[in-house]
Amino acid sequence: MPLLEVDNLEIAIAMRGQLLPVVRGISFSVDEGETLGIVGESGCGKSLTSLAIMGLLDGTPVRITGGDIRFEGQDLRQLNRRERRAIMGSRMAMIFQEPMTSLNPVYRIGDQIVENLRQHQKISQKAARARAIELLELVRIPEPQQRVDSYPHQMSGGQRQRVMIAMALSCDPKLLIADEPTTALDVTVQKEVLDLMADLQERMGTAIVLISHDLGVIAETCDKVAVMYRGKIAEAAPTDDLFARLAHPYTRGLLNSIPVVDRDVEWLEAIPGRVPGIDEDIEGCAFHPRCPRAQDICRRNEPKQHRIGNEHTSHCHFAEEAAP
Ligand code: SF4
Repeated sequence: MPLLEVDNLEIAIAMRGQLLPVVRGISFSVDEGETLGIVGESGCGKSLTSLAIMGLLDGTPVRITGGDIRFEGQDLRQLNRRERRAIMGSRMAMIFQEPMTSLNPVYRIGDQIVENLRQHQKISQKAARARAIELLELVRIPEPQQRVDSYPHQMSGGQRQRVMIAMALSCDPKLLIADEPTTALDVTVQKEVLDLMADLQERMGTAIVLISHDLGVIAETCDKVAVMYRGKIAEAAPTDDLFARLAHPYTRGLLNSIPVVDRDVEWLEAIPGRVPGIDEDIEGCAFHPRCPRAQDICRRNEPKQHRIGNEHTSHCHFAEEAAP
């Protein structure tokens, strides 16, 4: 049984008296200790998917309109708020792009880790503080004995993200969802944080869902990849298979948008056009207005899922030809 199973998930935003679909029937699973990367441009639905899994859509105009989310075999959509809270922050945790949205600026970081620990575990104040120092050491914060009493603004962006990781890991979760955890960081710090996450995963066996717009980040970190475009999974595969045999023009476009230091190009081949708005109707393949390979059939008919390998799928009429 997979640790996390998302089956035909549909999400919509209530707007101007109607529900506009933003996630249109996506399915994926994550096994224990596995890393899944979900990649796509802004607005593809990847972040809403992660918020739906974490149950963080309450009080927003966003609704889950269909499908199932199962964690350790439990249907998360059937749990009440109290049951959900018992899972979130202990067996499932999340880190966000901007740590300052999650860290309280007026409390010392140690106190925030201690509070998180004591919310989910029966542990004394003294033991929780000792554990907070251990966690800061684990995420490679220098001089953790002193830094435990720092306020968030006294730390660099990279250190704050490490504190968020420490807080997320404080209750030893089975699953960590990381939504663009390194986007706000410069390239060197980004690599340090990704290496740290990979190292912690290996040591603690935590499964990770890593959300990113950067296929390069996903390629370095993940066991398997789901490429999302306009609320659907365009292509999905184990990471090695995906790069050995790209089978969707959108994935190729994302790959060509990655800067490569020693590649002699004057500009990056960014994907032409823009992501369509959620209220725009597009007949046929949603990618056809931007796709360099689009044919008449693409403008008329929505592509079905093609299986081009054991676990490799593509929603493209020309999936076989797209793969070199
Ligand atoms: Fe491009 Fe057509 Fe494939 Fe869509 S179905 S990705 S438009 S080739």
